[in-house]
Amino acid sequence: MPKLNECYLDIKESYLFAEISRRVSEYEKNNPGKDIIRLGIGDVTLPLSKRVLDALHKGVDDQGDPSTFKGYGPEQGYGFLREAVSGYYGSNGVDIDPDEIFISDGAKSDTGNITELFDRDNTILVPDPVYPVYVDTNIMGGKSVKYMAGNEENGFLPMPDPKVHADVIYICSPNNPTGAVYDKERLTKWVDYALDNHAVILFDSAYEAFIDDPSLPRSIFAIEGAKKCAIEFCSLSKTAGFTGTRLGYTVIPKDLVFPTSRGGQMSLHAMWFRRQSTKFNGASYIVQRGAAEVFTKEGMEECRANIAYYKENAKIISEALDANGIWYTGGKNSPYIWFRCPHGMGSWEFFDRLLNEVQVVGTPGEGFGDNGKGFFRLTAFGERERTKEAMKRMEKILQ
Ligand SMILES: *Cc1c(COP(=O)(O)O)cnc(C)c1O
Repeated sequence: MPKLNECYLDIKESYLFAEISRRVSEYEKNNPGKDIIRLGIGDVTLPLSKRVLDALHKGVDDQGDPSTFKGYGPEQGYGFLREAVSGYYGSNGVDIDPDEIFISDGAKSDTGNITELFDRDNTILVPDPVYPVYVDTNIMGGKSVKYMAGNEENGFLPMPDPKVHADVIYICSPNNPTGAVYDKERLTKWVDYALDNHAVILFDSAYEAFIDDPSLPRSIFAIEGAKKCAIEFCSLSKTAGFTGTRLGYTVIPKDLVFPTSRGGQMSLHAMWFRRQSTKFNGASYIVQRGAAEVFTKEGMEECRANIAYYKENAKIISEALDANGIWYTGGKNSPYIWFRCPHGMGSWEFFDRLLNEVQVVGTPGEGFGDNGKGFFRLTAFGERERTKEAMKRMEKILQ
């Protein structure tokens, strides 16, 4: 009889989205024909850009021709794509060697799989509220995490406590679920703290393409010293609408070398290379062809047009909150808007009122952690007229 990984018993039921759909279905059953607007979507809705689509088609054709057919590719990703990602970093003023870039099928797998490189005996910090993947993947591996509180005082951007030691630190900026973005000064404090503690920062920059304030860092590597203490995860999911197409990349600097208990040293870059070449055979050639197009000037312009569409929605939502004096983070440089529920309502109480009184669905903040209690998330991934209509309907509850 196999002994099972009982750590799975320690993972919390993913109750949030199941509970939302339960309440919405019940409402629909009791109120047939009511027009519900969904602004809880954490997924892109616009189709791929024309140029990316053409590049994907071209990739398909390559696979049908003996002279261009590709079998197994390099586990780390094709050179043409790693060069393109490196060039993209360069255009943002960050120097990353193509050799330090690993192409994958997305950032979720990489943020989860990276936990394998760390021992159980580490102090791991995650923010609260949090993207649940960081917590659950650690628990699956028998590791426990400590929470750093996000709140109104720190603008949902937890800062290091010099009295507390950490070994591994998760940071997501622009943040899901709060939309909050670390500025250069605050990220520098994290990098300095990590260097002092010989810690590693796991930096999730999945939403970097939503940043248009040039003073905000789009990469942890824009901060001096970060190559000695940080790994960065990124993805084309939100940048280019690849949530269903699948492509991510992870940057692991070769300078991330730490002493081992047996003497000598281990390199995180070498460990990840070994891990990926053992357990992963690379992202699809076709998708890598489409991805490379995203990093061309014209391809990036088309992707930016979609992002601009979402950002206009975010602006519409933020303006409605501003008009009613409601405190929020995000809405700028992010597709998420995270706000305090009006009149001291709890997250679920507010959810029920929106659903029952104006038929708008969002996401209760408390589903992302204790510090989300009394907060609520709306997303900019909806359709323009529906977003406007939702904010018009919500007016009487926000007042
Ligand atoms: C959407 C998202 C990602 C991207 O995940 P993929 O697996 O690349 O689709 C990563 N991190 C966060 C916080 C996200 O919200």
